[in-house]
Amino acid sequence: MNRFSYARADALQDALARHRANPRAAFIAGGTNLVDLMREDVARPAVLVDINRLPLKSIDAAADGGLKIGALVTNSALAYDPAVTARYPLLAKAILAGASAQIRNVATVGGNLLQRTRCYYFYDAGTPCNKREPGSGCPALNGLNRNHAILGASEHCIAVHPSDMCVALAALGATVHLLGPDGARTLPFEQFHRLPGDTPQIDTNLRADELVTAIELPSQGFAAHHAYLKVRDRASYAFALVSAAVGVELDDAGRVVDARCALGGVAHKPWRDPAAEAQLRGQPLTAQNVGDFAAALLRGARARRDNAFKIELAAHVIVRAFGEATQRSFEEAAR
Ligand code: SF4
Repeated sequence: MNRFSYARADALQDALARHRANPRAAFIAGGTNLVDLMREDVARPAVLVDINRLPLKSIDAAADGGLKIGALVTNSALAYDPAVTARYPLLAKAILAGASAQIRNVATVGGNLLQRTRCYYFYDAGTPCNKREPGSGCPALNGLNRNHAILGASEHCIAVHPSDMCVALAALGATVHLLGPDGARTLPFEQFHRLPGDTPQIDTNLRADELVTAIELPSQGFAAHHAYLKVRDRASYAFALVSAAVGVELDDAGRVVDARCALGGVAHKPWRDPAAEAQLRGQPLTAQNVGDFAAALLRGARARRDNAFKIELAAHVIVRAFGEATQRSFEEAAR
């Protein structure tokens, strides 16, 4: 049994100081992933610093017309916030596609970003796992890998990021606000999560002494044309095999002004290709263009023993999501 102590922080600097005082300290908010990890002996913090009293629970207008969401806003509060449902329905739909109502009532925005992979080997402390114990090996490479990555993986880890919310945040081009002993800084969302490379134990570019304080959404929310499409083994309470968050802005002639598409369930982070998205700009949204985009986004996809189906599935999900976003059908592009 891992013995740990518990401390409740009353202010941001108090939280940072308590965390900095012990290299094995961990912040806890909703705890919906951390407590599981502790039960399975995967996470062994010496100190839990409870941050639930910190002033990070508001959703406020941001200076550029966007929205700033405190890290302690719960998934439910965010999904049902009137500004989010009106201006960022893509985000609301992605959140409501994840977990269960009970979990969403407790889980926080900051915790959602920091949740760890659901690779079965990672949670089984009796097996090797490079993410849990660097250098011990990756049994998923030649083992059960139906749920694993087809893009951006390495020979050290083929795990996928489990979040739905983060797929929408990637598509929307959010910014992550961080606070550490040296002050505040921001990271573009695509730079927050990492690919596994040869350091799969490090999921994000958050520094060890930093705290996520907020997420900021830009003013463009793609409310008119958006879709979050999630394919999973069960109709609810299951992680994505493949998901797609799509936002499209069209001009009066039906040409693409801006198009975003992020994939979930396929890589160690939400998967986007801004260069492929740029190819759509100025173009009419045709089955050919959507099909070409899907092929470009999936370029370099590599299947493992059990997950070849994900490559074809992802192509269909992308095409279907563009169709849902624009109330059209591009299905012939996926055939
Ligand atoms: Fe561990 Fe990653 Fe391999 Fe899963 S895929 S066993 S998390 S190293």
